[in-house]
Amino acid sequence: MNVSTKYYCSNCREPLKEQDKYCPRCGCRYRDIERGIKGKIGLKGCAKIRFKPKGKKFSQETLKGWLSSKDKNRFPEGVDMLREVDRKNNVYRKIVRDRRTGKIVHEDIGPLDQHR
Ligand SMILES: [Zn+2]
Repeated sequence: MNVSTKYYCSNCREPLKEQDKYCPRCGCRYRDIERGIKGKIGLKGCAKIRFKPKGKKFSQETLKGWLSSKDKNRFPEGVDMLREVDRKNNVYRKIVRDRRTGKIVHEDIGPLDQHR
């Protein structure tokens, strides 16, 4: 399993080092974290993007990617997955699409506080 983490300035998209407290280009202190996981668990390129004010819990999270499915007959090319958690607006959204046809096979949208 191979996990790579990348940091970007939330404002100008400048790539940041992990230890950078402020963006060297624009001075912004918000950063996006992008995590790519490739490995045995069948994630074929999934990115998680978080908006996290420093010292606070993240306010928004987006997980987007291409996953292989166990159901090879139904989804021979895997599925496209989009999951959004928005604490600021209290929204939870999960959409799974068949990669081949683009059809939505699973949809789960609702208030975040009722999701747990
Ligand atoms: Zn910047």
